[in-house]
Amino acid sequence: MNCDGCGAEHAEGAATCASCGRSLLPPPPGSPGPDPIDGLARDVKAAAKELIVASAKLSKSLAHHAAKAAEDPKGTTKKVAKKVATDLEKAGQEIERALRDL
Ligand SMILES: [Zn+2]
Repeated sequence: MNCDGCGAEHAEGAATCASCGRSLLPPPPGSPGPDPIDGLARDVKAAAKELIVASAKLSKSLAHHAAKAAEDPKGTTKKVAKKVATDLEKAGQEIERALRDL
């Protein structure tokens, strides 16, 4: 038999891999083992949080620049900034909502 972690051959009945130390015992019954979806959900949740934080930062930054821009009589920069920030925040909240039940 070979180690799942490093591929090294190990003796029948060994509890850990002599090469990498990985446990060679079968998982206890009833434990499904690591669920790949869990890791994925964690990654997406972290990304959603980052998106929300980034949108808030972007919104502040754009609003700051817009306030300084003298040649923006129609307030276009501000409008665009607001729209982008709102959309980003909505996207982040939608992702969080979708993940809540996972
Ligand atoms: Zn190993």
